[in-house]
Formats: sequence, structure tokens, C-alpha cells
Amino acid sequence: MKFTGKTVLITGGSRGIGRACAVQFAAQGARVAVHYHTNRGSGEETLRLMTGEGHLLVQADVAEAKAVQAMVAAVVEQFGRLDVLVNNAGIYEEHPVAEVNFDSWQASWRRILDTNLVGAANAAYCAAQHMIQQGGGHIVNVSSRGAFRGEPEAPAYGASKAGMNAMSQSLAKALAPHQISVTAVAPGWVETDMAVDYLNSPAGDAIRGQSPMGRVATPEEVAHTVAFLASAKSLFLTGAIVDVNGASYLRS
Ligand code: NAD
Repeated sequence: MKFTGKTVLITGGSRGIGRACAVQFAAQGARVAVHYHTNRGSGEETLRLMTGEGHLLVQADVAEAKAVQAMVAAVVEQFGRLDVLVNNAGIYEEHPVAEVNFDSWQASWRRILDTNLVGAANAAYCAAQHMIQQGGGHIVNVSSRGAFRGEPEAPAYGASKAGMNAMSQSLAKALAPHQISVTAVAPGWVETDMAVDYLNSPAGDAIRGQSPMGRVATPEEVAHTVAFLASAKSLFLTGAIVDVNGASYLRS
């Protein structure tokens, strides 16, 4: 898992799993473009935590197609190439079908799909154009266990991640002739800002108890799998969706 001379773009790199990925890739020699949405200070903090040199901070709302296109173009211009894209940016919002009104239901679906699925698809498209010219690359999508297990309180979130899995498999086939791998990581609960309120609530012990290990994943454990999938020797894993869920949900 050496990334010396490689360049990596990580969406949502200003905190959580994205930040852990940035630190991990940098530690293994990559030059990393850390993408942030609104919190530049947090993106700068990620840069401070990273070893190595030549890293970059880029901003975009991933739900905006033009912004995604400009972000990928800026990274390619600065780095001269793009070897790895990690589609990590995402949102989780509850919108229980029996409780929300129709306007709010529609707004949730649109917002979540635009960010989690269409944003990732657009970044994959833009990155793939460069990777095809380069003759190879790796795209790793950060999905979720919710794609398989169901998300009763957040059906659009579950659907966005199921869509991401299907997109990963389709793009894996489409891009394989160009030596580009497309894979997905499907974590269960992870100790990040997205999950902290749930983990600290009275439901926290039950959440940790979903895994027979009695805990949730660390962001570093997810980042380790992302880096493994993005490494040169993992090329033939293309199309894989890898669970990182502490045996909390098993599928075969
Ligand atoms: P997080 O909330 O800490 O990070 C999410 C990141 O996405 C943030 O950096 C945020 O700025 C970025 N983002 C959100 N909307 C954006 C937008 N419109 N444009 C640009 N960036 C935007 O959460 P996390 O836990 O680190 O989540 C990272 C990924 O992991 C997400 O895709 C999430 O769905 C997935 N995931 C998380 C868990 C968990 O329990 N934390 C479990 C399974 C999957």
C-alpha cells in the first residue's frame, strides 16, 4: 500500500472518514487534494494532520455539477494527474415516511440523492475522463451497510447508498478496459460527527451491541480499507463492495 508519486482526491475530507483517508494516503506517500464544503478551517486542520508535502485544499458543493467539474479540473491542473478518487462526502437525514409531510419528503429525497449519489456519479465521471487518458486509476465509493440492511428512518439515505453500490458495479464494468477499478466500502456505524449524537444517546449501547465486538468502527479502520482498495495490487478487486461492519450485518 505505497502511494508514492500518486495523487488522490477525497471528497468530504475536512472531517470524519474523509479526514482519516487523507491522513492515511498522505502517510503512504500520496499527494492529496482534500475537498471541503463549507468549513475551510476544518479542511486546513486536516492538512495540518497530514504528513508529506504538496497537498491541496479544494472547495465544492458536490450537489452542484459545475462545482464538481471545476473541482476535479483544479486538482488535475495542480497535480498534473489523478490516480485515486474517493467519493466520501455524504449526508444522513431522517425523514420517516409516517411522520413528514409530502413537501419535506420530496425535499429530503432530492437533497440526499443529489449529494450522496448524483454528486458521486459526477465526480466519478469527471475523474474517469482523466484516468482514461492516463491509462488507469482507482475510484472508491464510501457507501453504507444501510444499502443492504434498510434505513427505516432515512429511506433516501439507504436508497442513495444502494444506488452508489449499483453505480460502482456498472462503472467497474465500463471502466475495466481502461484499467480503472471502481469499488465500494460499506461501513456500519462509524465513530464520526455524523454518528456522535446517536452513539452518545441512550441508544448508544444497543448500536455498539450490533457488532459482537461490542463497538463501532473507527474512521481509521474505514480509511485502511479505502486505501487497500485504491492500491495498485487491488486492481482486480474492481466491482467489489467491501463490508466494514464488525459482523453486525452478514451477507453472502
Ligand atoms: P461526516 O458528517 O463527518 O462527513 C461528511 C462529509 O461530507 C463532511 O466533510 C461534509 O462536509 C461533506 N459533505 C456533506 N454534504 C456535502 C456537500 N453538499 N458538498 C460537499 N461536501 C459535503 O460523516 P462521516 O461519517 O465521516 O461520513 C463520510 C461518509 O461515510 C458518508 O458518505 C457517510 O454516508 C458514510 N458512512 C458513515 C457512517 C457513520 O456511521 N458515520 C456509516 C456508514 C457510511
